[in-house]
Amino acid sequence: MTEATQDRPEEQHVFEADVSRLLYMMVHSVYSDKDVFLRELISNAADACEKLRYEAIAAPELNADGAGSRILVSLDEENGRVAIEDNGIGMSRDEMIEALGTIARSGTRAFMERLEAAKAGEGAELIGQFGVGFYSAFMVAERVDVVSRRAGSAEAWLWSSDGKGSYSVRPVDVSEAPARGTRVVLHLMEDAKTYASKWTVERIIREQSGHVAVPIEVSAKPGEAPAQVSDGTALWTKPKSEVSEADYADFYRGVSGQYDEPALTVHFRAEGRHEYSVLAFVPGSQPFDLFDSERKGRMKLYVRRVFITGEAELLPRYLRFVRGVVDTADLPLNISREMIQESPILAAIRKGVTSRILTAMEKLAASDAEAFARLWDHFGSVIKEGLYDDFERREQLLALARFRSTASGEGLRSLADYVKDMKPGQDTIYFMAGGNLEQMKASPQLEGYRARGIEVLLLIDPVDSFWTPHAPAFDGKMLRSVTQGMADLDRIAPAEGSDAASTEASDEVRAFIDFAKETLGAEVADVRVSARLTESAACLVASDEGLDRQMERLLQGAGRLQTAEKPVLEINAGNGLVRSVAGLGDAGFKADAAWLLLDEARILDGDRPADPRQFAERLSRLFERALKANA
Ligand code: ADP
Ligand code: MG
Repeated sequence: MTEATQDRPEEQHVFEADVSRLLYMMVHSVYSDKDVFLRELISNAADACEKLRYEAIAAPELNADGAGSRILVSLDEENGRVAIEDNGIGMSRDEMIEALGTIARSGTRAFMERLEAAKAGEGAELIGQFGVGFYSAFMVAERVDVVSRRAGSAEAWLWSSDGKGSYSVRPVDVSEAPARGTRVVLHLMEDAKTYASKWTVERIIREQSGHVAVPIEVSAKPGEAPAQVSDGTALWTKPKSEVSEADYADFYRGVSGQYDEPALTVHFRAEGRHEYSVLAFVPGSQPFDLFDSERKGRMKLYVRRVFITGEAELLPRYLRFVRGVVDTADLPLNISREMIQESPILAAIRKGVTSRILTAMEKLAASDAEAFARLWDHFGSVIKEGLYDDFERREQLLALARFRSTASGEGLRSLADYVKDMKPGQDTIYFMAGGNLEQMKASPQLEGYRARGIEVLLLIDPVDSFWTPHAPAFDGKMLRSVTQGMADLDRIAPAEGSDAASTEASDEVRAFIDFAKETLGAEVADVRVSARLTESAACLVASDEGLDRQMERLLQGAGRLQTAEKPVLEINAGNGLVRSVAGLGDAGFKADAAWLLLDEARILDGDRPADPRQFAERLSRLFERALKANA
């Protein structure tokens, strides 16, 4: 103990409110898979070793003893104790209070909400993902002591808590602490004593931590020499032929904090201009932070097996769900985290890794459509961000994309499928964007397409309204919204037996259209005969130059568009109602009819009538007339 610390008494601290709540929930709701505590504590120990290796690059004295990283798990079955010790970076007093008494991450609240909603047993899978792993020790321990000595420091500190609201911190003699690093001692609860048995602990380590990049040793009882259980070989440095599926899955769980199976594993070593190894996974389910506004990736960068940072942008944002490591010999070990982002070497690596991951997805799509459909279901809406973020790869991403369509049934269609089935004379890929599949399928805008057997993609992701305006083309064919502009359907023959709309209109109907244009002038940009309607009387579309209607609504909803473009009212010249209305003599009645056609089109679009009170009045007048005529 140093002069400065020896007189300091034990301090009592109260946990932050969130921590107390979290601890309570850990103990009371995450009961089914307590094994995870060991994985979490070992992962913290390994992180601490990696931090030391990193800091020692700039300050070699921190690792003066030159000892290699190691993690030691010591068991004491008789006394029901298990200790996890590392020779990593260690913690100072302040760091302990900060790291073990508060929860720094913003995801905590989200974690607790998810935990509350989770069914019993699911909770365990969430712990690692949300970075609250340390507290899982309280699932099995009635008291946890953490003794730590920060690398380079002459002081050692003991943190101790029963997890019930408070903890204590006091200095201890360095002889009671590891020479460097941290020892976490769990005093096991009565019903968790099995975690002091060699057999249980070694099984868990093999299952869950076998690929931690630090060797792990186990000492079976006090005084017994430790034996190595895991050699700390970095899995990504091994040739593919020596790695089993199970090895990959274990490593994936460690690196992602997720407890499912990876949907896709990409493992390769690049040689040539740049040398690097990559082991990356597409998760089997959505990570909780997938839609965080930061859109941060979580790939880890290593330089010659030394962990550098988890913050380097090793992949474009639209692949932020990919988890794994990139290890390169081409960057200097002492590169600052700030320098990394500017590095042209990193840019080249990013390009290479991105290509390989997209290629692996393409291969999966070709070899196992169902597995790819699941992947797309989880991550498609994120990958589609690349359609406006990464123009260089747009065609490639469009080829990967899968869509619901009027021809997809329950399945998904690719653009290649679409193009293959295009009708003679069709040179455009049609789509409709909206929030609700059923509402879209019932939309009048689709009638003319259906009559001609033309497939229409049904885009339901909000992101679709961001890439579609960038005038994308696939295989030389433009993508075009069915709610936008003139439907140039006339060039395509209607299917046998269907009464597809013709744009031929009687003189009476033409006169009515002119009349409607005048009557509705302030509300619409134009009124014209429709080629896309076969059943409904009218529908609204955007003008040729206007934004897609769905896009317009999204922007308005987000407050990014003040004045909306006036829509075009299209009228079905062959519709019986329209023909009767056109034949009416009474101008007031005709005006009511024009307004009602407009409001009906708005309602079918999921909007409200322009003026609900007037709408109701017109409808009432119509009722009255109909009743009088019948009387
Ligand atoms: P995470 O590991 O995701 O940061 P944890 O709850 O597992 O979340 O750990 C909280 C923090 O406690 C760590 O970020 C680290 O600062 C500190 N910590 C935990 N265990 C150790 C250890 N063995 N050595 C050094 N620091 C540790
Ligand atoms: Mg942790």
